[in-house]
Amino acid sequence: MKDHGEERRYYFQKHRATTLHYDLRLEMVGMLKSWAVPKGPSLDPAVKRLAVMVEDHELSYDGFEGVIPEGKYGAGTVMLWDYGTFRILDNDEPMAGLKKGRLKFAVSGEKLRGTFSLVRMRDTKNWLLIKSRDGQEKPGYDITEDMPDSAKSGKSMEEIAKTGPVFKKD
Ligand code: MN
Repeated sequence: MKDHGEERRYYFQKHRATTLHYDLRLEMVGMLKSWAVPKGPSLDPAVKRLAVMVEDHELSYDGFEGVIPEGKYGAGTVMLWDYGTFRILDNDEPMAGLKKGRLKFAVSGEKLRGTFSLVRMRDTKNWLLIKSRDGQEKPGYDITEDMPDSAKSGKSMEEIAKTGPVFKKD
């Protein structure tokens, strides 16, 4: 199966659970591969952001924004901070990159643009998210500080929190 360059779904959520963090979700092998990124992305290639691989999400999860009720997994406020598509750059098969612990991909989001790498640290669930030097890097710029609100609704975390919990039908 050769799907190099295929357009895939990309989401970056901002999630206030026990602590505030960001959740990167990339469509691969029929799932949304997910990483919790405590500090969120940086456009500065010198800044390596910890990205802890967490459970896959179903594709049907599809960029949720709202409030997960108390007692449910991930309880708290979720913002769709960014979304769009991405393409895998250096592997014909995403599984190979995941196994090797090295994924290079080009993001076309509302906020994030250009090439990023996810690099796994030896024998752990810990990866590093790093912006490539591709002409779209911004050294010293803090995108999470400068663009804090939802790419979907324009709402702040406080405004989303006020909308109240969303109970799934199932
Ligand atoms: Mn989360």
